[in-house]
Amino acid sequence: MKTVTTIEEVRAQVKQWKKEGLCVGLVPTMGYLHEGHKSLIERSVSECDKTVVSIFVNPMQFGPNEDFASYPRDLAADQAVCASAGADLIFHPSVEEMYAPDFCSFVDMNGVTKELCGKSRPIHFRGVCTVVSKLFHIVTPQKAYFGQKDAQQLAVIRRMVRDLNMDIEIVGCPIVREADGLAKSSRNTYLNAQERQAALVLSKAIFLGQSMAQNGERSGKVITDAMRKLISEEPMARIDYVQMVDRDSIEPVDFIEGPVLVAIAVYIGTTRLIDNFVFEK
Ligand code: AMP
Repeated sequence: MKTVTTIEEVRAQVKQWKKEGLCVGLVPTMGYLHEGHKSLIERSVSECDKTVVSIFVNPMQFGPNEDFASYPRDLAADQAVCASAGADLIFHPSVEEMYAPDFCSFVDMNGVTKELCGKSRPIHFRGVCTVVSKLFHIVTPQKAYFGQKDAQQLAVIRRMVRDLNMDIEIVGCPIVREADGLAKSSRNTYLNAQERQAALVLSKAIFLGQSMAQNGERSGKVITDAMRKLISEEPMARIDYVQMVDRDSIEPVDFIEGPVLVAIAVYIGTTRLIDNFVFEK
């Protein structure tokens, strides 16, 4: 497994693979890889001939008061995870490699980016869509793998690919959790022991909402109110949002009539964590 830092090197390698008629899968990440990322890489390895993992902490998707500078980074550990999952190539560009000083082209979306994280992180999805489009153009994969953990991001990427006619199959992969329920996240590393315990309130709320829906509750208000109540009983938790939306359009819905996404964002101390479940009637 090779690690390359330039666009030219990725293009040369992928060109070679495509000449051999091989199918290329891409797993875009920001690094500090855990079992969640590993599950995406393994899925790509099982479905594609060659798997490229991009590791790039993309400054464009962080707001001015967010954690770009402190976001955890550990390339050596990431290389070990990628190798053990069977990846073929790591693309680890610098910010300068990805963004020329006079860079001024963006992929911006409406609708699907309006609710949930789009409300509290207004420039986030513009950064995500721009960097993912760039990675798609650089790597030209046949398939790209994204986690259900970032459910709105998955819906946004699916829509972007459809709207802009990108010839790439988007594969959504299930959320990987710690044994006690907490969704795995690179940001869990910010939590101290007490916060780590308090963070369990996210998955508890998700499991509560999910079981209410499974037991026949159809009202978004009843489900999200119960989840909100549970979260507010944890003194270290501060709710950003608890919302039910259509799974694909990310428009708010009051009742479960088709596939819905129930998503939450909660601050534990200063760390903002997200979790969700999808329910299909
Ligand atoms: P990130 O490095 O946080 O940008 O995540 C890169 C990819 O890994 C995204 O598609 C995420 O949705 C996915 N991912 C992150 N955490 C998990 C998890 N716990 N389970 C499944 N996928 C995940």
